[in-house]
Amino acid sequence: MTFALKELHTIEIVGGGLAGCEAAWQAAQRGVRVVLFEMKPTRFSPAHRIHDLAELVCSNSFRSASPENAVGVLKEEMRRLGSLIMQASYATRVPAGGSLAVDRAEFARFVTHALEEHPLVEIRRQAVSQVEGNTLRIIATGPLTSDEIASDLARLTKENSLYFYDAISPIVETESLNNALIFRASRYNKGGTEGDYLNCPMTEEEYRRFWEQLIHAEKVEAREFEDIPYFEGCLPIEVMARRGYDTLLFGPMKPVGLRDPGTGKRPFAVVQLRQEDAGGNLYNMVGFQTKLTYREQERIFRMIPGLKCATFARLGSIHRNTFINGPRCLEKGLRLRGVPGVRLAGQITGVEGYVESAAVGLIAGIHAAREIRGLPILPPPPETAHGALIRYITTGNGEHFQPMNVTFGLFKPVEHFRGGKKERRRLLAYRALEMIEEWKKHLADGTSPCTDE
Ligand SMILES: Cc1cc2nc3c(=O)[nH]c(=O)nc-3n(C[C@H](O)[C@H](O)[C@H](O)COP(=O)(O)OP(=O)(O)OC[C@H]3O[C@@H](n4cnc5c(N)ncnc54)[C@H](O)[C@@H]3O)c2cc1C
Repeated sequence: MTFALKELHTIEIVGGGLAGCEAAWQAAQRGVRVVLFEMKPTRFSPAHRIHDLAELVCSNSFRSASPENAVGVLKEEMRRLGSLIMQASYATRVPAGGSLAVDRAEFARFVTHALEEHPLVEIRRQAVSQVEGNTLRIIATGPLTSDEIASDLARLTKENSLYFYDAISPIVETESLNNALIFRASRYNKGGTEGDYLNCPMTEEEYRRFWEQLIHAEKVEAREFEDIPYFEGCLPIEVMARRGYDTLLFGPMKPVGLRDPGTGKRPFAVVQLRQEDAGGNLYNMVGFQTKLTYREQERIFRMIPGLKCATFARLGSIHRNTFINGPRCLEKGLRLRGVPGVRLAGQITGVEGYVESAAVGLIAGIHAAREIRGLPILPPPPETAHGALIRYITTGNGEHFQPMNVTFGLFKPVEHFRGGKKERRRLLAYRALEMIEEWKKHLADGTSPCTDE
């Protein structure tokens, strides 16, 4: 393969993790020279251990391989877009049932080797201390980004838009709720005429049983670098529960200002659900940030009236996690608002997970390559899994922004669809893959930098 280029443009990428490596590959495959900065092995984050790039710091799984799952669709889109991370994962796959799991050492070696061998990629093993550079830059320094980059980002994003811990409440899919047990209202009838919240009312007996399970539930153990300084306003639900029987009744489960139309009375306790996405497909459990294990969350939160058959689009967690408030700080093309020439990629943009981080890297790499070559930015269509994720981190709810995995609830809904859940998911998946092919065609129009000899 030779590169038929009249002039060579260069971009810089900071961070050789999943996002940075994918961004580098995408840009280089489009004929753009890339300098990729990685601070390992001179410096390691508290979770990174090996010298190779694209290190999987915990599990070796890229989750479901099924296209009937949103992350399966995202992976298939990435594969079709020529993703290096997908190539590496299929090349180093290990048996894992319905999941795509890899031999982590082989995986990291594959990615490192591919980038080392790419004629347009130069890897510099050095820590970068500033966000802005001399040319277009992608910052992909991850959830454990170095202190220098974090403080520079904090300075540039102002308005307290950089966070060091997430505090994630579970999100449920609206169609999985039992509306017969839930009522719509805002406290003291504030807000919209119909009420902005879905309320799950509890009797005293229901509350007692729920509280007893909560205080004895199994928690995820924190790693040593995750000594999380909890803020009073954002304590895990189980920590609040352990402070006393009444604590939640004066906190997130307080029933004040609400009347259950079913009984005509104020409930003993209430779990409030707040709309998460513009389409109303997802609702967030207000104040339910938690460190309980996923299994315990599903078991205990299904005791809440109306949530017995809930589909959880996201479960709760609290991690050490450096990320920005995307809707406040990012603009079209994943550019950092008010900082010309800089875009962000990976987990630092407010997505969650290996695949999602790499997917945002992929899009950032494409955008940067197009921008430096003077081509217009073409965001992925909102019908695609990539488009849905990018839409969440750029135009989601900036007031209550928290990191998110990809889920069908984020996809642009299919208008007037009346079928069941499985059918809807299949349709969303099918439409997403069709649209990604369309997008690919647009990207390729007159922009093909490589010619095979
Ligand atoms: C402890 C932990 C466990 C996780 N476990 C999972 C899991 O099991 N499954 C899952 O799907 N997701 C998991 N995640 C979430 C997340 O998806 C991964 O962290 C993912 O690797 C993020 O990709 P990234 O490219 O954004 O960042 P990373 O993969 O972390 O890459 C960032 C890279 O930037 C480098 N870097 C940082 N600062 C600088 C600098 N100043 N100069 C140069 N280089 C720099 C780092 O050394 C690193 O190589 C976990 C996160 C953490 C923190």
